[in-house]
Amino acid sequence: MKFDTKVVRAGITPDPATGSIVPPIYETATYVLAEVGKDKGFDYTRSSNPTRQVLEQNLAAIDGGKYGVAFASGMSAVDACLKLLSAGDHVVSSDDVYGGVSRHFNNVLARYGLSFSYVNSSDPQAVSEAIRPETKLLWIETPTNPLLKITDLQAMSDIARQHKLYLCVDSTFATPVYLRPLEYGADIVMHSTTKYLSGHNQLIGGVVVTNRQDIYEQMKFIQKTIGAVPSPFDCWLTLLGVKTLHLRMPRHTASAQRVAEFLEAHAKVARVTYPGLPSHPQHELAKAQMSGFSGMISFELKGGIPAGKAVMNNVKLCSLAESLGAVETMITHPATMTHVDVPAAERHARGLSDGLVRLSVGIEDVDDILADLEQALDKA
Ligand code: PLP
Repeated sequence: MKFDTKVVRAGITPDPATGSIVPPIYETATYVLAEVGKDKGFDYTRSSNPTRQVLEQNLAAIDGGKYGVAFASGMSAVDACLKLLSAGDHVVSSDDVYGGVSRHFNNVLARYGLSFSYVNSSDPQAVSEAIRPETKLLWIETPTNPLLKITDLQAMSDIARQHKLYLCVDSTFATPVYLRPLEYGADIVMHSTTKYLSGHNQLIGGVVVTNRQDIYEQMKFIQKTIGAVPSPFDCWLTLLGVKTLHLRMPRHTASAQRVAEFLEAHAKVARVTYPGLPSHPQHELAKAQMSGFSGMISFELKGGIPAGKAVMNNVKLCSLAESLGAVETMITHPATMTHVDVPAAERHARGLSDGLVRLSVGIEDVDDILADLEQALDKA
């Protein structure tokens, strides 16, 4: 199957009982056995569920993987990956990861004996230098949230092989439409399905995809043991959203490119970061590694915090909201919203200035998005 066909059809067969073209929502906790030891492949929904299984097969296929394991949130998918490790192990992580990820690493997992080093993973040398004898895992986010830094996955894969590390890639921003990290040798690709994959701001979810049977078995074990599973209804909603992923992403990208160019030319904007702009420091790497630049932009206003607040309080079409990757355009202030738990000194050291604004460009008419930003910028 070609990619677009996989998005719509992979893992989905007509329901054997009725022929329903849409997989049914198996909203059940348990399954009745015909006799002791004789089930129909399912015994308890924390372990497995037919609707979830269809989603897992579909998402695995579109990421070019053999196995998918779905979780109740992107964060529980992150947590499952880190549960491959044991106390005493060390992780080298991209420095500009989503704030919830660094909060989990620093405030939860560090209490269980894991340690973390944050490096600019756009610099493979810095990654190599951070590796210690006890390092077991490389955690890479590309493009990062919110600075849209790009990491060279082939270089990471080479480093991971050399040092026998798990390479885990959070590919939420790129989506499988533009980047399939397993093709570069990643052991695990992880997504917050809350974002582009489900695409309509309708649920919270996560997934882990791998080609390695040993990792799959551990992920399934963690999934059934911890129980951070998505509801059958959320799996069904995700499947519905995924069906148009390949149509939505080019529209997000085309509109984001227009918005980024508009912002870059605007007198009140100091700096725009978008991988599709030639001014992006890793534009060439982004072009080589991804087949599109996705819908996320970050920008800095000349007027700092007051200007940022003025824009955010005056937008009408763009929604002032925490999330990203959905059909609606959303605008966020990382310093007071998504990254509020990252200490100010660390935020600033990572280049997350107080005036930074993050924009998730939706699929409305781009002229309406531009007009809304124009009138809000007038007030900045
Ligand atoms: N990874 C990235 C890049 C994210 O942006 C987010 C959430 O914003 C997450 C992981 C966590 O996902 P969730 O909110 O579905 O738990």
